[in-house]
Amino acid sequence: MSDCLFCKIIAGDIPSTKLYEDDAVYAFRDINPQAPTHILVIPKAHISGCNDVTAENSALVARIFQVIPAIARAEGLTGGYRVVSNCGDDAGQTVHHLHFHILGGRKLALEMA
Ligand code: 5GP
Ligand code: ZN
Repeated sequence: MSDCLFCKIIAGDIPSTKLYEDDAVYAFRDINPQAPTHILVIPKAHISGCNDVTAENSALVARIFQVIPAIARAEGLTGGYRVVSNCGDDAGQTVHHLHFHILGGRKLALEMA
């Protein structure tokens, strides 16, 4: 998608701090970190958000969840971390390309909202 920020990051048209890349998955540091470690993990294929995960593309989500523990280990998040995906306006989704936030490096509040 030509007008998608994260598609532009994947293409290298917008710079990012890359932490991991394979043929299907890309991970980079969030530009506005909410915790000492704040990483975004995204599929290279444009999927708009959780509502657009289907039987045809859900293997990409499984791939992402295989990659997440490896990134967390590499970042030294031995005490734990949180994985978040905001879906839609009420959740505050601002970029409509499916992404999973990895947050860690401090004790995170227990509230889910
Ligand atoms: P959302 O609010 O949609 O769940 O998360 C979007 C995230 O993308 C936010 O945490 C925001 O800081 C991050 N973000 C927005 N623009 C950029 C950018 O240009 N580069 C990087 N690395 N992160 C971005
Ligand atoms: Zn996209």
